Amino acid sequence: MLRSRRILVVLVILSMTWAIRPADSAAFEELDALFVLSGADYSEMVRAEEAIEAAGGRVELIFPNRVIVGRIDRVTAATLRGRAAIEQVEFGPVVAVAGLVRPTVDERAAIEFWNDFVQSPIPEEHSHLDHEPMGSDALPPPPLHPTLRNRQDAVQVLTPAMAGKIVQTIFFVESDGKIDPQTENWGKDWKAIKRQVIKGLRYWTRVAPRKQRLKFVIKFNKPKKSQTSYEPINRPSTDERLWVGELMKKKGFPSARVGAAASYFDQVFAFNAKQAKKFKATGGAVSEFVIASRNDVDGKFTNGAFGYAYLGGWFTVMTYDNNGWGPARFNQVQSHENGHLTGRALDEYASSGCSCKDRSPNGIKNGNCAACSSDSCVMKNNTTPICRFTKRQLGW
Ligand SMILES: [Zn+2]
Repeated sequence: MLRSRRILVVLVILSMTWAIRPADSAAFEELDALFVLSGADYSEMVRAEEAIEAAGGRVELIFPNRVIVGRIDRVTAATLRGRAAIEQVEFGPVVAVAGLVRPTVDERAAIEFWNDFVQSPIPEEHSHLDHEPMGSDALPPPPLHPTLRNRQDAVQVLTPAMAGKIVQTIFFVESDGKIDPQTENWGKDWKAIKRQVIKGLRYWTRVAPRKQRLKFVIKFNKPKKSQTSYEPINRPSTDERLWVGELMKKKGFPSARVGAAASYFDQVFAFNAKQAKKFKATGGAVSEFVIASRNDVDGKFTNGAFGYAYLGGWFTVMTYDNNGWGPARFNQVQSHENGHLTGRALDEYASSGCSCKDRSPNGIKNGNCAACSSDSCVMKNNTTPICRFTKRQLGW
């Protein structure tokens, strides 16, 4: 008797839900959402992430330990508030720092990005500026140190498809004048670039098929924590070993600790490994070095390079203004470089020297190379669409 009454109650609730649904379908529409957590540590954040996904929402960007950007509908959001360390779910602009006490650099960047984004959504970009005059910006990564090779399948290594939780650590590199004369300082410019980095990464989480569960944990190192004795922009990009190695040493990974005669690549690999473990990566970990270059005349290294990435790890390098792209379009360069770095996608613009017969590391031919396709594409001219062959190169 009790059981049948219970069934009746459930049926009544279900019919009520059904009845309100068509009239109030907007309430079930998935929207961009900002989740503010009370999480005191990262494990609480993981709990919130799992709760959002279990409820059918989407997690796209993670800013330890208290801010997540993703997607969810209003009805489900209401059920999540107050659960699993989720304090607020917001769909519109929020007050400065969303009321967070002592926000971290990452949390602050997330809130600033969010308020920018909801007040002026990212427009479709259709810029056609030649990407780079000096051949491809997708570089083959060198082989790993022998002592690291047995860790090739570890958490820091990117999965075959661009998928899962990828940790991206960004350094705002500037000189301290100890070796090279100092000509650049970030000043406040890095704050705008932080938001551009987030925009560029969001591009990928937005276009990724849901089943890939692509999301980024974003960790910024402010200029004060990214200082080197060199002035990178006044040197060729091939001198990167000097300042990358020095920065990795400062982060606790001197060459000697990583392995006998370990290269700066190995140092970055070891640093990424630490980040991957700390933030429970499921899709790998990478680093990014953004070089102060406001005073430089062309925003290029002395060999003409400005934005480049190693295919499939372990890092990418960009300058503040990336030659003609400028800081306002940094997000487009960011998206393009992540196509190489975390997606192993090939260049498609003519001056990269691409060939339609080239094959990506997962064996997909470069069918959207300018030599055989005029389609506009993220890997060709940093525009919004992803071309057909690119998707397959990403493993999607
Ligand atoms: Zn490229």
